[in-house]
Amino acid sequence: MNHVFGPVPSRRLGFSLGVDPVVPKTCTMDCVYCELGPTTDRTVHRACYVEIDGILEELERRLSEPLRLDFVTLSGSGEPTLNAGIDRLIAGIRELTDTPIAVLTNGSLLTDPDVRSALQTADVVAPSLDAVSQGPFDRVNRPHPSLDPGAIVDALTSFSAEYTGRIWLEVLLVAGMNDDPVEIALIQKAARAIAPDRIHLNSVLRPPSVSDARPVNAETLREIAAGFGDAAEIIAAPSGPGQVLVESNVVELITSMAARRPVTVSDVARAIGTNEAVAAKTLAALVEKGRLTLVRHGESQYYRLNSRKGRP
Ligand code: SF4
Repeated sequence: MNHVFGPVPSRRLGFSLGVDPVVPKTCTMDCVYCELGPTTDRTVHRACYVEIDGILEELERRLSEPLRLDFVTLSGSGEPTLNAGIDRLIAGIRELTDTPIAVLTNGSLLTDPDVRSALQTADVVAPSLDAVSQGPFDRVNRPHPSLDPGAIVDALTSFSAEYTGRIWLEVLLVAGMNDDPVEIALIQKAARAIAPDRIHLNSVLRPPSVSDARPVNAETLREIAAGFGDAAEIIAAPSGPGQVLVESNVVELITSMAARRPVTVSDVARAIGTNEAVAAKTLAALVEKGRLTLVRHGESQYYRLNSRKGRP
């Protein structure tokens, strides 16, 4: 099985080479919005889910190829900190490359001092915090029964005080589940205590694990983002059916892909992590703006960068 994937263009991390230290789908939570589908092994037991030496050998082979890379990112089939060898994994990656290392985590195991210690040498730790009260936490994250949202906030706050890298806190809001004003105020209070370098506001943009997990509308998301202060930015602004992804970094990703070779709707859907309908509308918007040209080849349609107007 492959435990190194990409590089994939990421809204937050640029070109990110993924390293997956667990097996599908092993997580401490079973979030309603998860794009990986339902959790099959919901656990808080840290173990060697994947052999670290094997991952590093695979990574070394991948890094021997010419790649455009902004980050090597620990993420993948669940919660990466469940792998008990993550400290050795980060140290091994560091020996193989100077590329910055990011860890995407749900933050739930930062209550364990060993996990906090293991993440010290990453360049970016991007934990999520979708709820701080038990009700919204249970509704959105559907956690392992042993997890306590108050303890996770305390752990994130302790980690932030001792960690010298960058913390990018992600808050993902689901309509009717964790977006009521009382919960939002509590999340904002927790975020002030954690004091991350960036706060990324997100909603249900990609196809969720549970079909009734709905996005918060763009207007509400903007109002909520303002309450998080200057560190906050919206990384996904849903605008309902027919949404078009026009965030500047998504446009840059698409145009940089099209600069290498003509792209299809499915190339773009995979690259930006959305469905083909959204990708098609986004590409059509870029054609209308004169940034891409639609070309037909045989039965297929491709989008080519317009060399005069289409430079990112
Ligand atoms: S924490 Fe991440 S991987 Fe785990 S269920 Fe939630 S979204 Fe999916």
